[in-house]
Amino acid sequence: MAYDSDNIFAKILRGEIPSEKLYEDADTLAIMDIMPRAEGHCLVIPKSPCRNMLDASQEQLNACLATVQRLSKACMQAFCADGITLQQFNEDAGGQEVFHLHFHILPRHEGVKIRP
Ligand code: ADP
Repeated sequence: MAYDSDNIFAKILRGEIPSEKLYEDADTLAIMDIMPRAEGHCLVIPKSPCRNMLDASQEQLNACLATVQRLSKACMQAFCADGITLQQFNEDAGGQEVFHLHFHILPRHEGVKIRP
């Protein structure tokens, strides 16, 4: 499916709406989720246009996963987490609501449930 540059993350990347930036490099951006489902819930997105994982190049996936690993380790420390849940949704039926590739990083604590 085609990429629509009217999505929220494209607007954040263009600086049209604010975000709480955690990390940035040449290829990726990490921001706090505006409606966190766990303390420290953050998102990693590629800077280049990409609808979702089904549309991603190997380079985009490699860059995102490198940032996901870096942020996940930082979250383990910053939030004294016991583990990390990684989520990634593709298309309506897959639960995707914002159509720019993103990975959810959810710091987890033993015995604490989160919304799916
Ligand atoms: P879902 O909403 O089912 O998790 P997505 O995987 O498409 O589907 O997730 C979109 C995520 O983007 C949501 O967690 C939502 O809270 C987050 N979000 C929406 N708008 C913003 C924003 N302006 N800044 C940061 N996060 C946002």
